[in-house]
Amino acid sequence: MTESGLCQSCRHGRRIESLRGSEFWLCERSRTEPAYPKYPRLPVLACRGFDPAAASG
Ligand code: SF4
Repeated sequence: MTESGLCQSCRHGRRIESLRGSEFWLCERSRTEPAYPKYPRLPVLACRGFDPAAASG
């Protein structure tokens, strides 16, 4: 697993895996807020929009 930083624990992050097996994170905030990149450059170490996902397990 690559180091994606905050996105992997953010409720706005969606994990995308390419056919070659590389990992991307799609920021769903980008749909409504153009200030956020659709595919943020990883790792995201600081983000104003970070919103911790509900704990699962
Ligand atoms: S809001 Fe920030 S931390 Fe959350 S998915 Fe988007 S870029 Fe990543």
